[in-house]
This record gives sequence, structure tokens and C-alpha cells, in this order.
Amino acid sequence: MIFRPEKLKIKDQRMKPFIDSDELWGYINNAAVSKERVREVIAKSLDKNRLTLEETAVLINATDPELIEEIKQGARTLKEKVYGQRIVLFAPLYIGNLCTNNCAYCGFKVSNKQVKRVTLNQEDLVAQVKALEDSGQKRLILVFGEHPKYNADFIAESVRTVYSVKSGPGEIRRVNINAAPMDIDGFRTVKDAKIGTYQIFQETYHQETYAQVHMSGLKRNYDWRLTALDRAQEAGIDDVGIGALFGLYDWRFEVLGLVRHTNHFEAVYNVGPHTISFPRIQYASELNINKSHMVSDAEFTRLVAILRLAVPYTGLILTARETAAIRNEIMQFGVSQIDGGTNIEMGGYSKKKENADQDIDLEQFQINDNRTLNEIMDELIEQKYIPSFCTACYRLGRTGEHFMEFSVPGFIKRFCQPNALMTLVEYLVDYAPQDTKEKGFQLVQEKLDEIEDITFRNQLIQKIEQIKAGSRDLYY
Ligand code: SAM
Ligand code: SF4
Repeated sequence: MIFRPEKLKIKDQRMKPFIDSDELWGYINNAAVSKERVREVIAKSLDKNRLTLEETAVLINATDPELIEEIKQGARTLKEKVYGQRIVLFAPLYIGNLCTNNCAYCGFKVSNKQVKRVTLNQEDLVAQVKALEDSGQKRLILVFGEHPKYNADFIAESVRTVYSVKSGPGEIRRVNINAAPMDIDGFRTVKDAKIGTYQIFQETYHQETYAQVHMSGLKRNYDWRLTALDRAQEAGIDDVGIGALFGLYDWRFEVLGLVRHTNHFEAVYNVGPHTISFPRIQYASELNINKSHMVSDAEFTRLVAILRLAVPYTGLILTARETAAIRNEIMQFGVSQIDGGTNIEMGGYSKKKENADQDIDLEQFQINDNRTLNEIMDELIEQKYIPSFCTACYRLGRTGEHFMEFSVPGFIKRFCQPNALMTLVEYLVDYAPQDTKEKGFQLVQEKLDEIEDITFRNQLIQKIEQIKAGSRDLYY
């Protein structure tokens, strides 16, 4: 397909792009590093302030191993001081892999004739959701290729179907979306279906690289994609997720791109993005990219620590693209959400595990953490994390929850932690094997013992007893 911008039926011209690559490179080329300056910047973040582009560039430019360790330690401290031990779990559900774009890095690109094209019909979708619910999932992100078939009505319909499926005690309480950019009316349609977060990754903030890797299709339009979440905001979706696909261009530039995008939201809408994702390129069928910007594990862990400090109150999402070992390391820097029991094969969740070896012809890329949800829950519990399926803020209209967690004193103790424990107890009662159950209840007891306010503790114990007796979906 030949790229013809005038044919891109862009209805809304109000959104103005805001990335200036010379400006971003200017910060990277000029930010001077000294021990004192790096420590000053870390201290500013630990004092609960978002960092400027220049300050973020100081952390990026710190290459002395001792300073890198201080940055990582800063991220760990921020996590311990502010967020505690909760990790929210979710699962991605691929609805359709038809796609009219040609993204060099993606197995679903239109030119890939190896891939089997599948769109889940209503029956398949229900089967997938039941299988997910039967494993204990409560939060999903629905993923779509970019195709006229997957328009706003189709996406809204899929969301409604997912919410309507109930299997035993199971239900999906939050449905997020990762799909192509829409116009404002389209975003309104999906908002009406009660979506949680709308997530769109810019992939690369660098215009020239963007043009190289998006070889044809609507996605070639950088500005339409960059301003997509502005249109979402206009349509009333204030819960948006941004991201960059690391490995396409210089990671330092992409980190600044993400921070610049965050600043833009704060300046215009008074609220930053809900989450930032930082997928790293994985093997995909017909992967066709210049490998000179691939990000090593050392760079990757470093960049996540820098992001944590740069945007201390934004949720960070780490997916099963990464191995369990890298996930375990990076979680310490304050990742707020991970996926568990992930299967990105079309229709993969309802297949039996022994038949579920990865089928790259049905997948967008290869994942590296194939643990089941329970295996992940079990490990998190052993590591003293509190796995959480909490959806309370979203259900109560408390938007900007990450900001509240971060800035409202006592918010985590009063809301997040008890809600996390209650959703964990639900999981333990309904889905966990005996061994996980025992470890899980022991963790719950330890966390209850730590609550100093006796009245509050007793109230929570009562709620937990109610859950054990059959009540569901209790939250503060
Ligand atoms: N088609 C929609 C779009 O492009 O926005 C949905 C997104 S796609 C199904 C989800 C994300 O996966 C992409 O935005 C991209 O960042 C990421 N992705 C694509 N190919 C990848 C690869 N080979 N390795 C890791 N992540 C990849
Ligand atoms: Fe299509 Fe999205 Fe894959 Fe690009 S990344 S080929 S738009 S599914």
C-alpha cells in the first residue's frame, strides 16, 4: 500500500504534535553529570516530585556503575517508601489479528502470509473469557490489530461481551483496551462500554525511525498516533496508557519521549497517563528490523529505574515478553502491574496446557514467561508481594488512583492494601491449590498483624471472614 496522508480520513485536526526531537537530543547531549547532581535528582524524586526532562537526562547520562547502582537503589527506595508490596495482575486477550499495517517488528503485519488470521467470534470470545475467569483472572486487556473490522462499535461490543461472562464465582471487573487510534466519536463509543484504560504505544518517538518501521498502512501517520490519547481525553477517557517499543531507536531518546508525553498530559489535562509500558522487542515471525538499537538487559533494568524516578506517580507495566528472572529484578523498582498466565496465541486460553506450546503462526511475538497464573501468584506470595486483582478505584470513579496512592497520605494503607488482601483472599478461596492457599493465608495474616489501627484491622478481618463465607467483590 502506498502512503497517502490525504487519504487518511483524519477528522480532527485540533491535536498538535508536541515531540521535538532536537529538543530531546539537546537534553541528552547537554545534561552534565556529576555525583552531586545525580544524587540531587534522585533526592528530588524521593521527595515526591516528578523530574524535568533535563533531570531525567542527567540520570540517563550517568554511566558510572556506582551511580547506576544509586539510581537503582533510589527506585527501590521509592517503591518501598511509597507503594509497598502490592502487584496488580492482569491478562492480555487477543481478539483479532487482522491488520492492514506493515509494522516491521510485528508478526501480525499485513505482508506476513505465514500468520493465520483469526477473529474470535462471540462463542470463541466467551470460551476464552470463561477459561480466564476459571483461572482466577479479574482484569483483562483486549488487544486488536488495526483493521476496519475492529472499529469502535466492534471493540465496544467485545467489551460488553467480556463483562457479561460469568463462570462460577468468576467475573471480569475491568476491561482495558490496546487497539488502534480512533477519532473522538470512536473513543466516546468505547468509553460508553465502560472500558478501564485505553492503551496506545507510540512505539518510537523518533519520527524518522517511525517512518522506517511503519512501512505502510494508517499507522504510518506519526501525528495521528501521537495525538490519539488527546482525542481519548476529549472523549472523556482520562485513563490512558502510553508506551514505547524498546529496540527500535536509542533507548535514551525513548525514555525522554515518554517523559515528554507525560508532561504534555499534565500540562493540558492536569493528569498524567495512568500507566507507562516499556515492551522490548521479542522474536516475531518475519521480524524485519535493524538490530542496532536492541536494548541489553543491563540497559533495560537501568531505564526502568530511571523511568520510576522520573515519573514517580505513574503506574508501570511489565509484561511476559520478559523472562521471569528479569521480571523479578525489575519488579523491585516499583512496577505496579504484571500479566500472569499469559497466552497471546489467538484462542489460546481455552486450550489445555499440554497442547498449548507456543504456535508462532498465531502469535504477534514470542513471550518469555510462560508460567501459569497460579505459578506466578505462588512465587509472588513467597517473595512477600501481595498479588492484587483490585478494581476498586475504577469502580468507584476514583480516577487518578496512582496519583492518589502517591500523594494522599495513608491512601495505600486505607484503600489499596486492604483491597489487595481481599482480592487475594477471593483468589485463595476460589482458585488456589492447597499449597498456595496455605502460603497465601499466612501472608494475609502477617499483613493483618501489621495494621496498627485496631478498629480498622477488626473491620477488615470481618470482611475477610465474609469472603470466606461466600461474599464477593467487597472493597473500600
Ligand atoms: N494493533 C494495535 C497497535 O498497533 O497499536 C495493537 C497493538 S499490538 C497488538 C501491541 C503492542 O505490541 C504494540 O503496540 C507493540 O508495541 C508491541 N509489539 C509488536 N511487536 C512486538 C514484538 N516483536 N516484540 C515485542 N512487542 C511487540
Ligand atoms: Fe498491526 Fe499493531 Fe502489529 Fe502493527 S503492531 S502490525 S498495527 S497488530
